[in-house]
Amino acid sequence: MTAQLIDGTAIAKTVRQEVAVEVEKLKKEYDITPGLATVLVGENPASKAYVGSKQRACQELGMNSIGHKLQATATQEEVEGLVKELNADPAVHGILVQLPLPKHLDEEKILSAISLEKDVDGFHPVNIGRLSMKGREPLFVPCTPAGCIELLVRSGVQIEGAEAVVLGRSNIVGLPVSMLLLHRNATISICHSRTQDLPGTCRRADILIAAVGRTEMVKGDWVKPGAAVIDVGINQKWIAHPADKEWTCAATGETFIAHRKDQSEKGGRRKMGVYCMTHDKAYLKNQVPKNIDDCETVDLFRKYNLVGDVDFDDVQQVAGHLTPVPGGVGPMTIAMLMQNTMRGAKHALGIA
Ligand code: NAP
Repeated sequence: MTAQLIDGTAIAKTVRQEVAVEVEKLKKEYDITPGLATVLVGENPASKAYVGSKQRACQELGMNSIGHKLQATATQEEVEGLVKELNADPAVHGILVQLPLPKHLDEEKILSAISLEKDVDGFHPVNIGRLSMKGREPLFVPCTPAGCIELLVRSGVQIEGAEAVVLGRSNIVGLPVSMLLLHRNATISICHSRTQDLPGTCRRADILIAAVGRTEMVKGDWVKPGAAVIDVGINQKWIAHPADKEWTCAATGETFIAHRKDQSEKGGRRKMGVYCMTHDKAYLKNQVPKNIDDCETVDLFRKYNLVGDVDFDDVQQVAGHLTPVPGGVGPMTIAMLMQNTMRGAKHALGIA
């Protein structure tokens, strides 16, 4: 059996088109443009990239995007003060505080300061609480979990009555996606780092959601034939370079495969340091164990691919439906954020 691919890019495009149609309608009928405010604290490159793509998505769909940038040294009062201003701004229908925040900030307090009506990330404790209670409806559902459900529904996967296994219990993905599956009448097992028999538990699943952040952990023999597998993970998988040289750490006997700097290769990412293939661990230059032979002269120069928590080639032979990485859950996260911002605007108008 070869799994049917769930094309997240195509489904996300459809969702975005649907949102764009609704934006037009709101503009025409109510003279209102949905607006998303983003709050970026610090200079984390990945966070900057994520915020940038959210802002571009707003523009493409005809929504307003209001970007706020604060220094990495911003105080708790400054961030909360900004959130309060945005809460009071009628042009803002959704507020997104990009995570992770710098360590000195109290994330829980900041997320709780976002008005419930503008909590488009769905992380406000009241929204999460409602999601966890029977018969209660949150105003907003967290975007990645909502995207997982949308992928299943739009691919015709039956959720009601299904045995669903969720790998991971994070507040961002594992827990809310489990609650959403439960709301849709699946029977849920939630697995985590202390679960005794992961492969055996996963093999029971008609629907398997992998959100652990472990490179290609889920193998084909973990999957029930015909199951729908949603891979949330985004991991870097290093690709060996043919000119790699092997090093042995005198202290631990660990084998490192490293490569001298080679600027000629295109499309690669260069990092300074060495990479231990045996332990799947990278050491940046200043962290390389002192006793690794000749380590000062070693540079790591590697390329990596983005892969999921699921061993795609292996699982593809067994599953009934499968999301790729990239191009599966990833594009859905932004599409659902756009949908939530639209919902925020409708809520402000009293029509949602
Ligand atoms: P997280 O907060 O690190 O949570 C990981 C969860 O997996 C935890 O519950 C942890 O268990 C469990 N876990 C870790 N190692 C395990 C193991 N060996 N066996 C069993 N369980 C294990 O991660 P997250 O934020 O949920 O993200 C998970 C993955 O999804 C990451 O790769 C992340 O990059 C990706 N992600 C993708 C999107 C997207 O838009 N596509 C969005 C968010 C996240 P404990 O609770 O016991 O520690």
